[in-house]
Amino acid sequence: MTMAFADKSLSCRECGNAFVWTAGEQEFYQQKGLLHEPQRCPDCRKKAKAERAAARAANMHDVICSNCGKAAQVPFEPRTDRPVYCSECFEAHRNAPPPTAAPSA
Ligand SMILES: [Zn+2]
Ligand SMILES: [Zn+2]
Repeated sequence: MTMAFADKSLSCRECGNAFVWTAGEQEFYQQKGLLHEPQRCPDCRKKAKAERAAARAANMHDVICSNCGKAAQVPFEPRTDRPVYCSECFEAHRNAPPPTAAPSA
């Protein structure tokens, strides 16, 4: 049996506006395993997302990378007694092999 989706009209919990939950979105929800209908219209969802992004941005701190000296931002309060890295150096640092693992020639 194939599931057929049809556009569905819902009303936004946030602003009360009616919006269409399209068949494509319903399929997407099902693929993601989401069981609940969206509660908010796309506009309000976009707004909520922007607010979250702004809250995250407000939490960012400007730092100078301890490795390459580039200006970077980190999502935590930098501590003066610990080195801070830009995202590139952080990745490189994390992926670097432990110092004891010297390559055998
Ligand atoms: Zn809305
Ligand atoms: Zn760096």
